[in-house]
Amino acid sequence: MSLPKITFLLGALFGALALSACSTADTQQAQPARVFVTATPGSPADAPPERNLSGQVTLQALAVSPISTPLPTPRSTAKPSLGQVMILEYHSIGDYEDYLLRSAENFRAEMEYLREHGYTPANLIQMTEGFPNLSPGTKPVIITFDDSDISQFRYLDDGSLDPDSAVGILYDIHQQHPDQWPLKATFYVLLDVNGPQRILFGQPESAEKKLNWLVEQGFEVGSHTISHFDLATGNGYQVQYQLGESQRLLEEKIPDYKVRSFAVPFGSFPLNPDLLEEGVWEGRPYTYTSNVMAWGGPALSPYDPDFDSYYIFRIVAEPNEIAYWFDHFEQNPELYYTVPQ
Ligand SMILES: [Zn+2]
Repeated sequence: MSLPKITFLLGALFGALALSACSTADTQQAQPARVFVTATPGSPADAPPERNLSGQVTLQALAVSPISTPLPTPRSTAKPSLGQVMILEYHSIGDYEDYLLRSAENFRAEMEYLREHGYTPANLIQMTEGFPNLSPGTKPVIITFDDSDISQFRYLDDGSLDPDSAVGILYDIHQQHPDQWPLKATFYVLLDVNGPQRILFGQPESAEKKLNWLVEQGFEVGSHTISHFDLATGNGYQVQYQLGESQRLLEEKIPDYKVRSFAVPFGSFPLNPDLLEEGVWEGRPYTYTSNVMAWGGPALSPYDPDFDSYYIFRIVAEPNEIAYWFDHFEQNPELYYTVPQ
């Protein structure tokens, strides 16, 4: 086990004791070790999920709740020499704004802001590979979606793509600006959860078609466990089932595709974090090359010596957080990672 992981485990064990002393993390970028970062006090996403006997999170636990308090995000004043990358974490798209629910209008406005300010979408896996094939001067931004809600990718009754779903909006912007806006985003999907609208985008007859369409277009599909399982509560058997079986099922549905990145539900790590990297389920080995957190702020550049591909921060796509970080990098463009000349 590597030193950072040991550090993380210690942090996880003692994080609760440190809550009062760690309400902010100004040293986050200077010391991006895993100490205490998961202990985000008062975070709605950190609340223990409700489960049924099979370990599935209940619909009630996943349901959108009217919580207006923004998720706390460390706001570092440190200046990483190699720049940072925004990885935005969206959930549902709808007609109005609520906790983990963004209006289609505002989602589109945020995508247009990114395009107009010179950001280029990339997949998460491109980041862990060091952004190969991106042109010099590119400012990559990574748009991620958790929980595979139907509002992310919906077909209308006539079979057409819903223009107000997240995929419909991304596709429309791409059609208008194909050179500026490639079809890149990463979808962390669920396979069997109490909440049919969140099982592989909620239209079971079209699930495989959607998954294959996404990867054919250039998007990335990653795993978010089978059932939105809180990995910190599971034994090794349960953890390897959630990681290994979700990967196997997705790769079965998407021929010739390798699922490589993962998003831990609730930002919650297994007690043995090595199982995120590799394990065995029913005799079949699995591996993941990256994992994203549920919060944390902008991510370190993949070229930063402290970059850890299994502990990648994200910005919760909540209006205040988005506004803060968009403005932060507009005011301090030198702090953003740009593909070197
Ligand atoms: Zn989730």
